[in-house]
Amino acid sequence: MAILEGEHLTKRFGGVVAIDDVSFSVDEGETVGLIGPNGAGKSTLFRVVSGVHEPTEGTVRFMGDDITGAEPYDICHRGLVKTHQIVRPFGNLTLLENATVGAEFGGRKHDDPEERAYEALEFVDLVERAHDEPDNLSVGELKRLEIARVLATDPKILLFDEVAGGLDPEETEEIVDLIGDINERGQTVFLIDHVMRALMKVSHRVMVLDRGKLIAEGTPAEIQSNEQVIDAYLGE
Ligand code: ADP
Ligand code: MG
Repeated sequence: MAILEGEHLTKRFGGVVAIDDVSFSVDEGETVGLIGPNGAGKSTLFRVVSGVHEPTEGTVRFMGDDITGAEPYDICHRGLVKTHQIVRPFGNLTLLENATVGAEFGGRKHDDPEERAYEALEFVDLVERAHDEPDNLSVGELKRLEIARVLATDPKILLFDEVAGGLDPEETEEIVDLIGDINERGQTVFLIDHVMRALMKVSHRVMVLDRGKLIAEGTPAEIQSNEQVIDAYLGE
């Protein structure tokens, strides 16, 4: 069953067509990767889907409901959450408080936000630093805190926008393993990565954007040998 669908989505910024008539669907339980060169429209597609931008044209459906133009807060409550490409935790709050903010204000359930935040920190292996402030976290730890923040909202689908960006190979491996674990727990994953290798490892299916258009879709093996995809990347 499709959990997330985009129908003929277009987003223009003045004269720039960031995404151009994009239709796609993500099934419940899947991990779907989205790749494409810089400026292809990947982040814009995620922002349109998560309510940051309203599409110029087209429809977004989440669990069958039309959520086009809904507020990010509402969409998050329904169970769709997106990580930020640039991680900016509240510096004056502890890790636990940062993760709890996600659970309290964005979350799907309101039973015990702090407990859910604590579990999320445990899951990303930051629990021993729960009461520290984020100032002296490494880049990799910041990314894991960002994952804890979105996990604490108890989402049905998580959108990761270049969550491994700026990480060394070892930290990237940790994040990729975490994403694999999240999917194994039953949550649906939709992820962007500029670097193909990490994404290919966890994705069941990969979609390729180039200059706002979806140009290919298939298994990681199919995508890696697709001429059009290779050409899009060679043009960089
Ligand atoms: P990607 O994430 O694939 O690198 P983006 O979605 O960030 O690509 O950008 C796609 C295109 O849309 C680029 O040309 C970018 O400059 C433009 N764009 C993105 N966001 C905005 C915005 N808020 N205002 C104007 N142009 C934007
Ligand atoms: Mg981007």
